[in-house]
Amino acid sequence: MSENLKIAIQKKGKLHDKSMALLKNCGISIENFQDRLFVNASNFNLDILFLRDDDIPEYVQDNVAHIGIVGENEMLEKGLDVEPIKKLGFGKCSLMLGIPEKDELTNIKELENKIIATSYPNILNNFLSDNKIAAKVIELSGSVEIAPSLGVADYICDLVSSGNTLKLNKLKKSFNIIDSQAVLIKSKKFDESPELKKTFEKLMMRIDSSLKAKKTKYIMMNVPKNSLEKIIEIIPSLESPTVLPLSHESLVAVHAVIKEDKFWEINEELKEAGASGILSISIENIIL
Ligand code: ATP
Ligand code: MG
Repeated sequence: MSENLKIAIQKKGKLHDKSMALLKNCGISIENFQDRLFVNASNFNLDILFLRDDDIPEYVQDNVAHIGIVGENEMLEKGLDVEPIKKLGFGKCSLMLGIPEKDELTNIKELENKIIATSYPNILNNFLSDNKIAAKVIELSGSVEIAPSLGVADYICDLVSSGNTLKLNKLKKSFNIIDSQAVLIKSKKFDESPELKKTFEKLMMRIDSSLKAKKTKYIMMNVPKNSLEKIIEIIPSLESPTVLPLSHESLVAVHAVIKEDKFWEINEELKEAGASGILSISIENIIL
C-alpha cells in the first residue's frame, strides 16, 4: 500500500476549526475524528494528526508529520528547522507588549530593567537583544495577563487580537513585537517518493485555489444595453466579464469575478452607470 501524506493540525483551540475548514474546502472528507489523534481522509491519500499547537513544529521537523498548520508565533518561538510554505490568512493576531492602563510607555528603551511575563521567551528575548535592552523575562505557560496584578511582573508580552482580555485585566496594548497568522510548514526531511510528491502537489494546488477564491467574489448585475461598454470599463474583472441575454430586450446580465476588496469601491459607480440588481456571491475555489 502507498504511503499517505501526513498533516499535523491543532487538536482543539483557535486554529482547529479553520484548519479543518480549509481541508474540507479542498474537497477532503474527514469523518469521526472526535477524540481521535489520528485519522485517514476517506477520499484523499492524507492522514491527519491532531496535536497541541506547541508540538506541531517538532513533529514536522522530525518528519513524523510531513506538513503542519501552526501559528507563525509558535513556529518562531520554537525556532526549529522547518520550512514555512504558505501563509493561510486565518488565525491572525499580534504578539504585543501589554502594560497597566495607568502606565505610559513611549519608548521601548523604557523597558530597561523591567520584568516582563510571557509564554514567548525566545521571541521576546530576540526582540530585546535586537533593541539592546536589558529586561528580565519570566516564562509563564498560561494566564500571563494576571502577572502584573499579582506583582509578578511589570508588563506582559502576549498574543492579542481585539484587546478585550487585556482590558479585563486592566492592561492596554503597547508595542507590537510580531504579527502572526496560521502558516503551512513542511519538513526539511520530507523525502518525497514520486507518489507522496504527487499527493503533496495536489494538496498545494487545492489550497492555492481555495485561498485565491477567498479573496474574490462572483458578481452579477443587470445592465441596460446602452450602458454595457461603460459598465465593463468599471469592472476590474480577473477575466473578461460574461454578458448574457435577458428576456427583457433592452437589458443584459453581466457576470464577473473580481477581487473582494473592490466590491464596495465599484458598487456606487456601477449603480450610477445604470446597473441594477447587483449581487455578489462567495466562490469556493478558483483554478486559473
Ligand atoms: P494548545 O492546547 O493546542 O496548546 P493553545 O491554548 O496554545 O492551544 P490557542 O489559544 O488555541 O492555543 O491558540 C492557537 C494559535 O491561534 C495561537 O498560537 C495563535 O497563532 C493563534 N491565535 C491566538 N489568539 C488568537 C486570536 N485571538 N485570534 C486568532 N488567532 C489567535
Ligand atoms: Mg499551545
